[in-house]
Amino acid sequence: MKTLKLDSTYRPIGVIDCIEALVMCIVGKATAVEEYEEEISSPSVTFKIPSVIVLKTVVKFISTGFRPSRSNILWRDRNQCQYCGIVEPPRDMTIDHVTPRSRGGENTWTNLVTCCKRCNQKKGSRTPKEAHMSLLCHLHQYPITSQHLKVYTMLVQAYYVSSCRLHWQNNLVFL
Ligand SMILES: [Zn+2]
Repeated sequence: MKTLKLDSTYRPIGVIDCIEALVMCIVGKATAVEEYEEEISSPSVTFKIPSVIVLKTVVKFISTGFRPSRSNILWRDRNQCQYCGIVEPPRDMTIDHVTPRSRGGENTWTNLVTCCKRCNQKKGSRTPKEAHMSLLCHLHQYPITSQHLKVYTMLVQAYYVSSCRLHWQNNLVFL
């Protein structure tokens, strides 16, 4: 199992092994804010396994290794076009740069969205505003089915939402 690691400002900084997270809580480096149902027991003590921990320090450099690759973007958006909402198999989907590459748009979580071929053609190399198209941005409303998925989904959502300069805590669904 994996644990989402936040720094003291609640900024997501990575996903680590849950045992490592538990150890960090035990030695006082972090506090668990969400826990799994599962427990670890020794003869004398029982620990709940943390699913989300908050460090007691601010981390300056972020490295998650969780890249906004084509497959990760498709997974985050659940193969749903983020403009018209249509859901199609991954092979029929494209990845759109919200701010076009020709305008300096980067390959980041917040600038890449799943887009059907029709919308991609319609949008071309324009911004959504210029193309009179709007983004769904309903990431936080996605149903989450398993604990494992929950951690990863939260990481992606947190990135997405915090990068949109919203307070991510208020925009995530904690099951
Ligand atoms: Zn579309």
